[in-house]
Amino acid sequence: MPIDKTDKIWMDGKLVAWDEANVHVLTHTLHYGAGVFEGIRAYKAKNGTAVFRLTDHMRRLLRSAKILMMDVPFSVDQLVEATKETIRANNLEAGYIRPLVYFGYGEMGLNPLNNPVQVSIAVWPWGTYLGDEGVLHGIRVKVSSWDRIDANAYPPQMKSTGGYLNSILAKLEILKAGYEEALFLTPNGYIAEGPGESFFIVRDGVLITPPTSSAGLDSITRESVMTIARDLGYEVREQDLVRSDAYLADEAFFTGTAAELTPIREIDDRLIGEPGPITKKLQETFFAATKGEVETYREWNEYV
Ligand code: PMP
Repeated sequence: MPIDKTDKIWMDGKLVAWDEANVHVLTHTLHYGAGVFEGIRAYKAKNGTAVFRLTDHMRRLLRSAKILMMDVPFSVDQLVEATKETIRANNLEAGYIRPLVYFGYGEMGLNPLNNPVQVSIAVWPWGTYLGDEGVLHGIRVKVSSWDRIDANAYPPQMKSTGGYLNSILAKLEILKAGYEEALFLTPNGYIAEGPGESFFIVRDGVLITPPTSSAGLDSITRESVMTIARDLGYEVREQDLVRSDAYLADEAFFTGTAAELTPIREIDDRLIGEPGPITKKLQETFFAATKGEVETYREWNEYV
């Protein structure tokens, strides 16, 4: 989906014109992928534009930075305020928010710590990630032949720019094979997550998702959906799954900021089917929560 240009991008404390939001070609992060970022959505909600769990996303950004020993010169509160300021400056009603923390220009080589730590926040309008059709009828998924990065090689719990090379390899593989999204296994053979989504199945009325030790990213949508499911009275388990558990699921879906809640129709050509009743109920409640329509989850709506 092409980026829909807006007016201003926040860079290191200042709003700059979209076309002038540039970096030097010797920017350190551009060479080695040592940067961290977030993906956040703003929704047109009941009382105006509301960013979904903005503070939690900025907390995770600083946690990712800590693993990489990046000394970010802004606090969570400052980043939250900067995001709201950027949305207001662009008159954005709803869309995507992309904060990036990177090592700038200064020194080349594998020790990044002598470079300035820089931060940008861009916002633009954005629709569904895996297609409107996918949200309604589910997508076709294939297990990738690429393993998910191992926690002791490259922590998938850190939302790093370089880590997405692993996701890109899986995405390219399954797109070329004619599927819509990939599913990763860990090096131990357990189901991990999608290249940009968390994975859930429903079996005998119980919702099951891999624990974060296997799942990778400590996903905010995953946690929101687990909370919604428990509040609706469903049993939720965090449990390691193997690929046959996925084939034999009654229902399956991906969650994530970009994917929101996208049902899965097929896994490795085994039919799961049209979205089932629990998937639909969770989807409906999740979308209502993002739009500020559910009183219980009002604190997730951070109004601009
Ligand atoms: N796993 C991966 C690998 C992701 O990139 C994402 C998207 N950030 C997710 C899961 C979902 O995380 P969240 O719900 O916080 O967007």
